[in-house]
Amino acid sequence: MDRLETLSIVVPCYNEEAMVVELVEHLDMVLSKLTGEGLVGEDSHIVLVDDGSTDQTWPLICSSCETYKRVNGVKLSGNVGHQNALMAGLTVAKDTSDLIVSLDADLQDDTSVISEMIKLSRQGNDVVYGVRKDRTSDSLAKRETAQIFYKTMKVLGVRTVYNHADYRLMTKKAVEYLSEFNERNLYLRGLVPLLGCKSATVEYKREERREGKSKYSIRKMLHLAMDGITSFTDVPVHIVLWLGVAFLVVSFGILVYVMVSYFIHSVVPGWSSLMLSIWFCSGCVLTSLGVIGEYIGKIYVEVKGRPRYRIEKKSGEKVCNIPPTIQKAQRGEDDGEV
Ligand code: UDP
Ligand code: MG
Repeated sequence: MDRLETLSIVVPCYNEEAMVVELVEHLDMVLSKLTGEGLVGEDSHIVLVDDGSTDQTWPLICSSCETYKRVNGVKLSGNVGHQNALMAGLTVAKDTSDLIVSLDADLQDDTSVISEMIKLSRQGNDVVYGVRKDRTSDSLAKRETAQIFYKTMKVLGVRTVYNHADYRLMTKKAVEYLSEFNERNLYLRGLVPLLGCKSATVEYKREERREGKSKYSIRKMLHLAMDGITSFTDVPVHIVLWLGVAFLVVSFGILVYVMVSYFIHSVVPGWSSLMLSIWFCSGCVLTSLGVIGEYIGKIYVEVKGRPRYRIEKKSGEKVCNIPPTIQKAQRGEDDGEV
């Protein structure tokens, strides 16, 4: 029988002292169930990443590590934010596991769908996204801002999975591909679809946070949204450039209008030059900003150093093994014999 795959459940934790005990108990039970059903190996484990918490999160993680053999803790030296903490957990987990599931510490994500995720990964999906059925557990403000965000991302041409946060399964291969992306402003929900891996989705109902308060302040949420937009699209820069060009075009129309007004009706002194200057100068300023933005956008892409491509398969070996005579025949050359 084939070896059963090892599963890691990675959870970033920031000031989650109210959740740690319940979280560990719950995830240990989930792993017992999955191993009992023969879906994953006995060496499956939990990786809790403490993202520089200032409360009792780390001591609680340490005591859980002593009580539960499946729990491992990683402490980051400071608060680096959800996305970076999650990336740290994924990087650690990929060295010891074949499948990695990431979820939040608040147990809002329904862990009963993990078995379905594992089954889908066995069908060749390197990424399985957990997608929320609805957003009823969110506050009205969060629901509305999320809608605006998804719509903006769509208009700007950024590929994201609708209603998917960071609850997903990734195979070791997918996480290895992900670690080739060296950028600092991480927005994993945008990066994962760029990996080019075969993917599937699993729907689930998201519950309310069990204990504690959301660790995503408005500031952190806006920061994440800005990363989502600015790390994946340069459309805003193009908009500035085209707006500038549009202003310049309009300024020529204004020139005609101003000339006509000047010669036909009497106008207030200074009006003509003022009108023209406003439109023409604004056009020049916006166009110049757009051009500078285009270059900065290019520098930004270079600095991120994302992989340019990834070769998935090669048929090269087979071709090389073909005897030279047949290769020649395939190329339509004869052997020189008449
Ligand atoms: N988190 C983190 N670092 C931060 C903020 C949040 O590691 O700076 C963790 C947090 O502990 C939780 C997850 O990221 O496990 C998502 O945060 P939360 O559930 O508070 O966000 P919400 O569901 O309210 O959007
Ligand atoms: Mg949450």
